[in-house]
Amino acid sequence: MAQDESSQAPRDAQSYEFRAEIQQLLHILVHSLYTEQEIFLRELISNASDALNRFQFEMLTRQADEIVDPEAELAIRVTTDEEGRTLTISDSGIGLTREEMIENLGTIARSGAATFLRALQEKPAAASEIIGQFGVGFYAVFMVADRVEVISRSFRPDAEPVRWISTGGNEYEIAPAEKESRGTDIIVHLKEEAAEFARPWRAENIIKKHSNFVAFPVYLNDKQANERTALWRQTPRTVTEEEYQGFYKQLTMDFEPPLLHVHLSAEVPNDLHAILFIPPKRERGILRMGQEEGLKLYSRKVLIQERTKELLPAYFRFVEGVVDSEDLPLNISRETVQSNRIMAQLKRALTDKLHKELERLAEEKPESYEQFWEQFGPFLKEGIATDFGARTELASLLRFHSSALEDEGVTSLKAAKERMAEGQEAIYYVLGEDLRSVRRSPHLDSFRARTMEVLFLVDPIDSFMISNLREFDGTPIRNVDDPEMELPPLPDEEERQVEAAPEETFHALLERAKAVLGERVTDVRESKRLTDSPVRLAVTDESFNPEMDRVRRMMREQQPYAVPKRALELNRSHPLIRNLATLAESSQASGEVSPLLDAGIEQLYESALLLEGLHPNPAEMVPRIQQLLEWAAAPRS
Ligand code: ADP
Ligand code: MG
Repeated sequence: MAQDESSQAPRDAQSYEFRAEIQQLLHILVHSLYTEQEIFLRELISNASDALNRFQFEMLTRQADEIVDPEAELAIRVTTDEEGRTLTISDSGIGLTREEMIENLGTIARSGAATFLRALQEKPAAASEIIGQFGVGFYAVFMVADRVEVISRSFRPDAEPVRWISTGGNEYEIAPAEKESRGTDIIVHLKEEAAEFARPWRAENIIKKHSNFVAFPVYLNDKQANERTALWRQTPRTVTEEEYQGFYKQLTMDFEPPLLHVHLSAEVPNDLHAILFIPPKRERGILRMGQEEGLKLYSRKVLIQERTKELLPAYFRFVEGVVDSEDLPLNISRETVQSNRIMAQLKRALTDKLHKELERLAEEKPESYEQFWEQFGPFLKEGIATDFGARTELASLLRFHSSALEDEGVTSLKAAKERMAEGQEAIYYVLGEDLRSVRRSPHLDSFRARTMEVLFLVDPIDSFMISNLREFDGTPIRNVDDPEMELPPLPDEEERQVEAAPEETFHALLERAKAVLGERVTDVRESKRLTDSPVRLAVTDESFNPEMDRVRRMMREQQPYAVPKRALELNRSHPLIRNLATLAESSQASGEVSPLLDAGIEQLYESALLLEGLHPNPAEMVPRIQQLLEWAAAPRS
């Protein structure tokens, strides 16, 4: 391979070995054929943009005489040379000293290299797509280059300009260099088969595709190739859907378009320009590994903080985006971000806007909202459980499975309220393990009879959430097993012909059940509610807070779980109860204990626990169920 004069290493050049992981990484990049090689340019431009951001930040605290080239335009220049088969990416950013080159381009650990190599084993084809995520994006250039020179002059006046050269082997060289201007030039000597990247139209295409929204001008051979005004500073109605999607992809490196974008542009009460995105999915797998959440915060075009958590409540931590405000003092630091009054106002404005836009999404695009709910519903529930002040706002965004809906459908509280039956005083819910068991809950009997809706709360976090959400828009929200509950009378109550167990026999059953269940229940009594189910467990004054009982049950791994005490209520008109009552009376008369009667009582009690989501170990019921089956199947004499 012919080397030109300029890049011959000078005499006092020094060789260094790359760290082992980097050697491995380079070997893979140099020798594998990847599609999407073009992203190397995105990575180099993104590094140039980072270097410019860091320079701006240094400027805030320094005098002009402490800086090389203080007046230089903050920009990125890409120059093509088809004949020389090179591409040069220059920036007027912070620059690199000799030590920084050693540290950042090869010798000292780049912590992401090992992780990236591991990720590569799982998904080799994705290399070029994901490389930037691991803090090793610079090396992507070796997919297309057989030699790379980095010539840099740090912004520090006392630092010498230096040149770094590597051919992608195991070593690199560093030597003194000549460079007047501040910043870094990266000269990419393209492999023969990658010559296309030195063609101006090809380079322009790549810049527009991958780097259009970089916050500094990107010149291609002296002509600006990227968007001139930051997207968030443009008037929302002039921005196209494609531009939002492109911006989202560049911001997050996600491949799928976002579920929703929200663009705020205001001068009063605060100057605030922001674009927020709801990602399409909660998990974005490998891409999000090790990345913290938070928004990019700009003030007066300077990137103040890459991942700012203080601009949204914790329950919106999945939101991505950029926030820019001229009202923030430029010297705002990580510490003062938290106590700054304007930050609090911006947070309020952003949060309100998100709530509004999500409500609008629910109204205008219910299907997108369902997708949102499926992905991010748990975050909002967590918000209600933990952020007391937010519960009213969040309540309208909640969705529930419900007895009024088919299968997997969900309803809002507002819709449930509108469906309330005449005389219904509250919105009711039932807690349970899963949809199938709550649909069978005996508590639903009296609601079904009155065509009253019951919401199904089957998510583990629901118990925590509902303890904080006691009402919606003035209507109380109650558990179906609330002992205080008064239901409106059934219109045809008197006419219903039900054959109830006679007083005497029913009394015998009550007595026997009390004896069998003993301390496990607070009472055994007749139910006024049940129509189709034989029994139910009712909350009494002695058994407090059923939501917390479930929470305790879920945490039973940590602590021994005591089954909470309830009253067992029997449906006197149910055939099973009538038969057991007859059996109870005859055993009482004969003085002989009936094993079938006792097993029946036990089984009714435990089945009720199961439907309630309170049974500590349902498998324990199996031997008894088999015994009951054996008796039932025995030939009758
Ligand atoms: P990352 O950008 O995620 O840190 P890269 O592999 O892309 O990882 O870059 C490695 C490091 O090299 C950067 O963190 C930075 O310190 C240094 N670097 C790369 N390009 C430049 C540049 N144009 N100006 C200054 N420093 C740079
Ligand atoms: Mg980078």
